[in-house]
Amino acid sequence: MSTIQQAQQILKHKFGYDSFRLEQQNAIQHVLHRKDCLVLMPTGGGKSICYQIPALMFEGLTVVVSPLISLMKDQVDALRANGIGAAYLNSSLSSTDQGQIMQLAQDGKIKLLYVAPERLLQQGDYFLNFLSGINVSLFAIDEAHCISSWGHDFRPEYMQLARLKHLFPNVPVVALTATADKLVRKDILEKLELHQPQTFISSFNRANIRYYVEAKKNFYPKLLEFLAKRKDESGIIYCLSRAGTEALAEDLRQDGFNAVAYHAGLDKGIRERAQEKFIRDDVKIIVATIAFGMGIDKPNVRFVIHADLPKNIEGYYQETGRAGRDGLQSEAILYFSSGDVVKMKKFVMIDKNPEQTKILIRKLDQMAKFAQLTTCRRKYLLNYFDESAPDQCGSCDVCLSKYDLVDATIIAQKALSAVFRLNQNFGLTYTIDFLRGSKAEKIREEHKLIKTYGVGADISKEEWQVYFRDLIARGYLQQTEGEYPTLKLTEKSEDVLKGRVKVELAKTKTIEEAKAPRGTQAEVSYEKELYADLKELRRTIADSANVPPYIILGDSTLIEMAAYLPQSMEELRKISGFGDVKLQRFGREFLNCVMDYTRRKKMASRMELKQPKREKRAKAPIKADTGRFNNTYQVSLDMHRQGSSIHEIAEQRKMSPQTIANHLAQFVESGDLNVTDFVSRAKIERLKDLIDKYGYMSLKTIKDNAGDDITYNDIKFVVSSILSVNN
Ligand code: ADP
Ligand code: ZN
Repeated sequence: MSTIQQAQQILKHKFGYDSFRLEQQNAIQHVLHRKDCLVLMPTGGGKSICYQIPALMFEGLTVVVSPLISLMKDQVDALRANGIGAAYLNSSLSSTDQGQIMQLAQDGKIKLLYVAPERLLQQGDYFLNFLSGINVSLFAIDEAHCISSWGHDFRPEYMQLARLKHLFPNVPVVALTATADKLVRKDILEKLELHQPQTFISSFNRANIRYYVEAKKNFYPKLLEFLAKRKDESGIIYCLSRAGTEALAEDLRQDGFNAVAYHAGLDKGIRERAQEKFIRDDVKIIVATIAFGMGIDKPNVRFVIHADLPKNIEGYYQETGRAGRDGLQSEAILYFSSGDVVKMKKFVMIDKNPEQTKILIRKLDQMAKFAQLTTCRRKYLLNYFDESAPDQCGSCDVCLSKYDLVDATIIAQKALSAVFRLNQNFGLTYTIDFLRGSKAEKIREEHKLIKTYGVGADISKEEWQVYFRDLIARGYLQQTEGEYPTLKLTEKSEDVLKGRVKVELAKTKTIEEAKAPRGTQAEVSYEKELYADLKELRRTIADSANVPPYIILGDSTLIEMAAYLPQSMEELRKISGFGDVKLQRFGREFLNCVMDYTRRKKMASRMELKQPKREKRAKAPIKADTGRFNNTYQVSLDMHRQGSSIHEIAEQRKMSPQTIANHLAQFVESGDLNVTDFVSRAKIERLKDLIDKYGYMSLKTIKDNAGDDITYNDIKFVVSSILSVNN
């Protein structure tokens, strides 16, 4: 049997999973060759398996460096539940306990030992000397970004980890993290002094999370409506202020929800209890400041809500990333009002540091832009992190929305004349307030005398925002860059003002029900009542073992049982998440629970519906250090610049011309290439007219209304140029 087949056996028998995910297999293969590497995977991607399986295949001990005490305990509990010998050492243990654990390690009774960095490197090298005397086969450095001062979570004690390579030159090191941009990545490799390291990067797309942005108006009733449909599910609601978390938690409790507040101002004891209850499913909703989340690994968080605008995309992605670690369908909702942008500006300013302030304001603007997108939100997020993505994901509110076009010529005329009357000197919020005839003091007295003042009072602020965004997207208006963007007319504005063209704009937005992405359990239907019974049983077992329920079995395992209704231990073995040890320990109890149910309901096994689940391999793993775009895009760009046509590039690269066009369109959008390189001016003009008329949401609609001489690629390039930063 090859080593990788052995690894697969261990995956099935010890962990109960059928196939590797993302870059797991490649990383494991590399580690098994005793070579150093860095593994980047999104939260919930399955980083731990990358060192846990080699740990089981190597002779000696694997030492795992991990900065968070609470997570260490969780990991060790999870390993033990699968019958794997593991332990941790940190300051929460007595010295007798610690001595015992070191003895176990020395006797080869455990395969994995988790330690805090300060413990590993403690003064006098007591612990390092101990390790020198035993057989250490692998070091795994978890949360490796903590070593970089460029990162958001720098820990000075990590700096010392470079010594590992000096003291143990022949022991391979695997570093792992979920957050690392290019600089941090480079820093990790250098600071750990890894030897000819390879980097394995998986896509950071969290396919099972749906992204939604909602207007903040009527926040509370909307929130109640959302939560009412999810009474049994766990979620986190992030608020900006400590007082805000307490008030909201109190309101929710009054309305019958099981919610508690969490923020850094609360007593340590209270905080720990809140966290513990949440982890054990005793409390369903945590209303928290961003102080909450670092130390928890709860896999079945089904929704993350932002009641206030996050300060930057990094924070937003990290916080929403706490949803759905178990791979099941989850939701991220941001409640947005443009007033929040103004409010947050004050929070991100740093006194006497204009340079830093500028950077932080820019990050806030990028966050605000995300909230106001009319294009796919997932694409924006992935592009932000230097990863390419298709134009539509099919599971964010934008992709799921249908916009109805309405004749908005009058509305457009009102908007453009307001911009004109305000001498093209004011921003979006002011212009809307002006149109709505706001009595606010900030509206200048002389503006209140203008005829246009108040002509748009019949349209709500939110609706105006949608109209303005659309007017900008269609080129009837433009918005300047910078800290205080203002609205300007364009050459197309005059036609509207003079009544020479009819304008159609997107109006009502209706969100379609999302289809569950393939590969998630939501695509099979399962017995809800049985699922509840199984959860109850899991809870009883967890309580008596004094561990959180998810350590016993994950939600997805319970759902599989409730969907496929296994009728024997052999069938139960095929349910994902049942390794040999769990099968032996709790298999019978769960099986009885299922069989009780099926007997009562006169149902039979549905195991034949279960396809061996193929975990999707990331299609094109992104290589390290390729700058803004993925390598393969860059190759196409270079060839184009050397004069090759799309067809020539496609032929040489053995890819389809569509793929190459997609690559190059990205560069049109980024402003690196010109649309006129690809489409004739005459066609561009025709296409722009069509896009004015039909919008750019559906390429097919444009294609159906264009002549036969216009190709999808033409449309793609012109749309990219409209979306381009240079436009
Ligand atoms: P990370 O550390 O990257 O956030 P974990 O290592 O905690 O993620 O894994 C997340 C979850 O996915 C865990 O419940 C783990 O058991 C599960 N998992 C890992 N690899 C696989 C796999 N190949 N198939 C199915 N589940 C997996
Ligand atoms: Zn989308």
